[in-house]
Amino acid sequence: MGKQVAIIGAGISGLLACKYTLSKGFHPIVFENSSSIGGVWTKTVETTKIQTPKEFYQFSDFPWPSSVTEGHPDQNQVLNYIQSYAQHFDLLKHIKFNNKVSGIEYEGPSGDEMQAWSHWGGTGEPFSSGGKWKVVVEDKQSLSTKIHVVDFVILCIGRFSDVPNIPEFPPNKGPEAFHGEVIHSMNYADMDYESAAKFVEGKQLAVIGFSESISNLYTSEMRCRWLAELLGGTFKLPSIKEMEKDVEKWDAYAKRYASSQYYRRSCIGALHLWYNDQLCKDMGWNPKRKKGLFAELFEPYGPMDYASS
Ligand SMILES: Cc1cc2nc3c(=O)[nH]c(=O)nc-3n(C[C@H](O)[C@H](O)[C@H](O)COP(=O)(O)OP(=O)(O)OC[C@H]3O[C@@H](n4cnc5c(N)ncnc54)[C@H](O)[C@@H]3O)c2cc1C
Repeated sequence: MGKQVAIIGAGISGLLACKYTLSKGFHPIVFENSSSIGGVWTKTVETTKIQTPKEFYQFSDFPWPSSVTEGHPDQNQVLNYIQSYAQHFDLLKHIKFNNKVSGIEYEGPSGDEMQAWSHWGGTGEPFSSGGKWKVVVEDKQSLSTKIHVVDFVILCIGRFSDVPNIPEFPPNKGPEAFHGEVIHSMNYADMDYESAAKFVEGKQLAVIGFSESISNLYTSEMRCRWLAELLGGTFKLPSIKEMEKDVEKWDAYAKRYASSQYYRRSCIGALHLWYNDQLCKDMGWNPKRKKGLFAELFEPYGPMDYASS
């Protein structure tokens, strides 16, 4: 039997991971906490639209249908598009809905032995011969818990799931200092359109906090393709030391604009292109994806540039 790969989450990243691991002959099993696919797109108010033009928010081998004429499709259109993608590539049968992963454990060599490894898994191979992953899954419908033993685990849990990140406030300087109702944006997004409209009707609103996720459909797709190629043996990872050094370098680069008190988050916006170039090189692709020097110099890169040639 082929290797079993557990994928946690059936948002855009989980679906992509499922599709690309299947394409390499693996057996993916996707655990999704909720009852449907689409992740964040199932939890936004109906009026939400994608911020990037749709040409930059599409799967490289599955363009938007011609029936969607809007430049920035809305939540329902995005969900329909994701659903068609999953149906087209027959991914739904690999997904276990209402299945929440509550724990993951690696069972194999001792901690001391692993500490001594110079390469991933001891040998540099993606799959370890001596170890397996135990994935603890709670079935929310039958209220039972099952342990799945798999060869590899891919986390596709997104950045906005489940637990709201609420800061700790000094006494009497938190929500109680505000004479009104205070809710986290996740609770607002959980409301249906009518409840959300009613909630804000006639109120003055203060929105606290703002963040761009900079997560992006085609970068997720590139990562999943890279991972599938790694699992398929197209290339090997460098030593753990080299990877740690590289992580430090990336971290320093990503934070180089982070000195201002108002801009403390790392910035990866400028890195997409360079990052995708590295993924292409690892996979043995030419990172210059455009046809002709003029296009290479002046045309922005988008999902279709990374379609298989
Ligand atoms: C309002 C909004 C607008 C956006 N607009 C754009 C845009 O215009 N352009 C762009 O490039 N990006 C945009 N994004 C970014 C968007 O986040 C990504 O494009 C993409 O949808 C993220 O998918 P994901 O699969 O990585 O994560 P998610 O969609 O968050 O999916 C994660 C999934 O994992 C599941 N999960 C989590 N924990 C567990 C667990 N323990 N067990 C089982 N399942 C679990 C969750 O239920 C969820 O279904 C937007 C995001 C939002 C919120």
